[in-house]
Amino acid sequence: MKAISALFTVLLCALVPAGLLLAVTAALGSPATTWALVLAIVMLAYGIVAAWVGAYDLGSPLGWLVLVVDLTWSLPNTVFGAVTGLWLYAIWGNPSKGNSGGRGWISYSPRSATGFGNDVLQTLGTVNLGGSGQHERMHLLQARIFGPLYLPIFGLSYVVTFLIQCLFTLVLGLALKAAGVRTSAHLNPPASSAVSGFFGWIYHSTPFEEWAYASGNP
Ligand SMILES: [Zn+2]
Repeated sequence: MKAISALFTVLLCALVPAGLLLAVTAALGSPATTWALVLAIVMLAYGIVAAWVGAYDLGSPLGWLVLVVDLTWSLPNTVFGAVTGLWLYAIWGNPSKGNSGGRGWISYSPRSATGFGNDVLQTLGTVNLGGSGQHERMHLLQARIFGPLYLPIFGLSYVVTFLIQCLFTLVLGLALKAAGVRTSAHLNPPASSAVSGFFGWIYHSTPFEEWAYASGNP
């Protein structure tokens, strides 16, 4: 079954997204052949790594559901992981069969015992560094629920929390600190936040992070 799962994972990753793009753009009048080819190559690379770690267990209906969602509704998140984490995380770690097998994601295990991948975990689309940790699999679920809206909402959230942090610090924080009311001019995240300080509040206050910290792993 594992060999068949691997074969189907590679084939479906390489063919379904590119085929969908071709079909949609052809229906609109001009088939995006070049982009379909680029997408096929990107997703072939993703499919090969996913198959190698056994990310999608196609012996189970849930494995099929997750793969189909990742190649259709949540495809922007899958492609995002394929063009970022899939390559970037190789700097810090190696794809882990133990953390990825049948779990619907490609998880890298860090080569070092400290630093990125140990203290700070990260998930980009369906690609992760450091394993489940406190709430990384919640981000995976959020991406699959919100599909093409997930990254735009996340990006917009960062803009809003960045502006709130800057406004608070400049308008109130500096004065309150000078008056001895506050110890820091900027807003601070809870101690549980993986990132602290000025940027920590901007990061922790985005709705997807608040939700993930509140609920842990699904
Ligand atoms: Zn998070």
